[in-house]
Amino acid sequence: MAQDFGRALNDQQDDIVAAARKKAILLCERVIGDHNLESRLKRLEQVAWRESTSRTDGVRIDFEKIKQALSAMGPGCFGVKRGNYYAEVYPHIVGRMTLADAFWTAAEQGTNSKAGTLIHEASHWTAVRGTDDHAYGDAIKKLAFAQSRNNADTIEAIAESYDV
Ligand SMILES: [Zn+2]
Repeated sequence: MAQDFGRALNDQQDDIVAAARKKAILLCERVIGDHNLESRLKRLEQVAWRESTSRTDGVRIDFEKIKQALSAMGPGCFGVKRGNYYAEVYPHIVGRMTLADAFWTAAEQGTNSKAGTLIHEASHWTAVRGTDDHAYGDAIKKLAFAQSRNNADTIEAIAESYDV
């Protein structure tokens, strides 16, 4: 089946997405630049963390790749579909993202935000991290380490913890 990214954004949607993308990049920079990232990952109840410097560096690398992927995107890289979900991507097609109904009413800040949604989706790209959706929302607190580490909503929660 041919890829379907939905219809083009209107001007108002372009502005909303531009602001969300700018903020998502800022949140990535906060994660990457946090000298206390390891202790934060240990402290966050959404993250099943096993402390080690190499694992912390791995998270930094993930966010560096997410930042690069989102930075390379422009208005033409997004599409819109109707549906009761936030967004979707094809894992093998970096830099193209479709936004759905829940995105437009998502929070501007904190949990389940628009910026966090972009980070969540970017983490799904195989060339970025290739995360899965093992669990969403509060259920991510119960994931074991391996699944937590490869879960898109966990990546989103790490980023959103910097959005205060
Ligand atoms: Zn997802």
